[in-house]
Amino acid sequence: MARNFLTMDLDTVTVRVGEADTAVDITVYRDILSAVSPYFRSAFDGPFVEATDRSICLTDVTNETFRMFLQWAHSQKCQLSNGAAFPQHAILVQKPTRKNVEQTTPGSAELQLPHRTSSSPDAKTLPDTTVALDELDEHDGLRSLYHTDPEWINGYRLSLLSFLRLYVFADKYNVPQLRDDVLTAMIAQSNAWNWWPDIDRELLDSAHENLPPSSKFIRLFVLSTAYCWLLQPETCSATRIRTMMEMNEEFAFDVIVVQNQMLKDKISSEGMPLWLEDAVPNSCVLHEHRVQDAEKCRKRIRDQSQIFTGLIEMCAQDVLGITKESGEE
Ligand SMILES: [Zn+2]
Repeated sequence: MARNFLTMDLDTVTVRVGEADTAVDITVYRDILSAVSPYFRSAFDGPFVEATDRSICLTDVTNETFRMFLQWAHSQKCQLSNGAAFPQHAILVQKPTRKNVEQTTPGSAELQLPHRTSSSPDAKTLPDTTVALDELDEHDGLRSLYHTDPEWINGYRLSLLSFLRLYVFADKYNVPQLRDDVLTAMIAQSNAWNWWPDIDRELLDSAHENLPPSSKFIRLFVLSTAYCWLLQPETCSATRIRTMMEMNEEFAFDVIVVQNQMLKDKISSEGMPLWLEDAVPNSCVLHEHRVQDAEKCRKRIRDQSQIFTGLIEMCAQDVLGITKESGEE
């Protein structure tokens, strides 16, 4: 079974993603799914119905999100397999069930939204020092992804929704490393652009609908709102807090708690720890570390920055897909 791959099995399973009329069958290596998700491990390896017919239906996941997950999972596997190259997605087969769903082909888009033409990893451009991607104040490779375009903020907003969909998938189908990695990518991106996520009704509603209140994804927005947006000189705190409370009371409450703590810290210490860098020196403060401990996690972020630039790029490409689709209607 294992053939020339030392640890990997080339058994495939079928994952049907999407709602009934637009569902798509995707053939996936079983081991890729089992390695990253206890959910899929028990679905395909355990004594469940799915294990016998070797297929599973995920109606609440889109083709795009599942493919992003797969791409991420493959980038993991390549790192984990001790040099043994695992076949890439070219081998994966997609069988439309009823309607032929076109795959989005980015590149020819009119809008210059978040997009990078080269998909090569950024590892070479990183300095040899021990600073990891999510600790860099500025990262030219990431900056060039967005900052030149007037549509930038909208593109940024849409890419956050893309990150959210991926995170919700990782929450629902139990992929703890992907949850941590999405947050690392978002923090690396925010550091690079010096632009932290602001509250947004669609995003906040969707996050609260689909994630537990204790979710670290929501926590990132609580922190960035308290540290970055509530303190803007041009914003009126009262108006902003009222807006937040109308949107989500629990969220507003958490933001105020963080702000209160910031004020206390300010009073009790000489400095003014009013910068997000104090609360989020790197993404580990928002990690669950259920797969790797903090030390291994730091090393992984330093050595394998392509995993995170890959995520940022995928979410940016996803935005291009959405923009294209809505333009066609
Ligand atoms: Zn970590």
